[in-house]
Amino acid sequence: CEQLEISTSTVIMKLMKLGIMANINQNIDEDTVMVLADEVGVSVVIGKVEEEAVEEGLEMFEDKPEDLKPRPPIVTVMGHVDHGKTSLLDAIRKTNVTASESGGITQHIGASEVMINGQKIVFLDTPGHEAFTAMRARGAHGADIAILVVAADDSVKPQTIESISHAKAAGVPIIVAINKIDKPGANPDRVMQDLTEHGILVEAWGGDTIAVPVSAKSGEGIVNLLEMVLLQAEVMELKANPNRLAMGSVIEARLDKSKGPVATLLVTNGTLQSGMSVVAGTSSGRIRLMTNFKGDTIKKAGPATAVEILGLTDVPEAGDVFNAVKEDKVAREIADSRKSKLREEVLARNSSTTLEQLFSQIQEGEIKELNLIIKGDVQGSVGALESSLEKLKNENVRVRIIHSGVGTITESDVMLAGTSGAVIIGFNVRPSTAVSNMAEREGIEIRTYRVIYNVIDDVEAAMKGMLDPEF
Ligand code: GDP
Repeated sequence: CEQLEISTSTVIMKLMKLGIMANINQNIDEDTVMVLADEVGVSVVIGKVEEEAVEEGLEMFEDKPEDLKPRPPIVTVMGHVDHGKTSLLDAIRKTNVTASESGGITQHIGASEVMINGQKIVFLDTPGHEAFTAMRARGAHGADIAILVVAADDSVKPQTIESISHAKAAGVPIIVAINKIDKPGANPDRVMQDLTEHGILVEAWGGDTIAVPVSAKSGEGIVNLLEMVLLQAEVMELKANPNRLAMGSVIEARLDKSKGPVATLLVTNGTLQSGMSVVAGTSSGRIRLMTNFKGDTIKKAGPATAVEILGLTDVPEAGDVFNAVKEDKVAREIADSRKSKLREEVLARNSSTTLEQLFSQIQEGEIKELNLIIKGDVQGSVGALESSLEKLKNENVRVRIIHSGVGTITESDVMLAGTSGAVIIGFNVRPSTAVSNMAEREGIEIRTYRVIYNVIDDVEAAMKGMLDPEF
């Protein structure tokens, strides 16, 4: 408090919010200090507190230079559709299988690792810009290097340019893979020429961007490309401290019917161990099982390793930051405090869409249409709801069904509701926790019903302004 010139009561209040009833003479543990620092927006360096805007959540313990060891590069593949991103990743994996004779089927966890000349490279399967832009937006660390795939027979296209902008915005160096050189119409020179117009000058032409001609189809140039990735990584001197609590980002997450929440974590610093407690976004839990990209159970995962974990209580979001913490209790507290923070934010946001709010907008003449998304268990009831609801109108407003379908309420429904200002009606279907969480965050109302009449009643009431907030 002294160093930060904030009052002790502020700190005690914040601790109380975290469920810690501390007094002024009490010691608090390291994990708590980290959360607290996050709360007051400062950065902690072991032993001293540094005032600095904290953009990276809990990423506050700075590693001493002597603790840092070289780590493998994390790579994303970007480029225009059909230029060969998927094929290139496949070709890279195949190169690796023959080289390391490890064979076996790799399971899909959103990332894969390849060995070349005894050195590891991590590839993210997530489409390029998501791999770093979305992650960085949440303060997570994404890819170190972007491979920009450009088809030699098609050259620079809109998404190529988009990819360049994303990589540049994230400060991630680009290696150009000029693909499809096996094709008769291939013209690598034209690709290099066109790239200059977008600020990329390849080495062969006196610039500093590495460009490698490849064929994902024949495998030509792939090894060379991988070696160039290693070369680029070497120049970047990528380092991490394996001897600290792990941190990194969530690459993928889903709810498995039998296993519960399953998340792929990319460890970017520290070492993750099975049995440890982690907090990832607003979810937390102890790692029950940890597997690598090949599906093998592992106990430890060092820097630049992608692992799939079981044991989280909730499904985190791709791009969320994760941190290992010493105690499960602390992990839970952090997750809970983030959840309530989010809830407050959602409440504060006025773009949220609920039937009540829509009604007040109707009253003020701001809207003339009540947008609904209808999801139901069987086509019969969805159809019945649609036709009954569409008939509803009064002098001020009418109902518009912007989307309807059979099946559970999905993230895409929530997104659609967000862009169209709609309320989602679920008839005999419920959203998953992940979808509810998303809706809550986005301020989208999901109302579920079992009786058609009740739906009609509520919508009618909303239109007339008599909707009971409780339902
Ligand atoms: P993505 O949309 O960027 O992921 O592109 P895909 O990997 O799906 O490839 C698009 C099409 O190009 C597919 O039909 C591939 O078989 C083909 N393709 C990809 N790489 C090559 C290549 O090096 N040579 C040839 N001839 N075709 C390729």
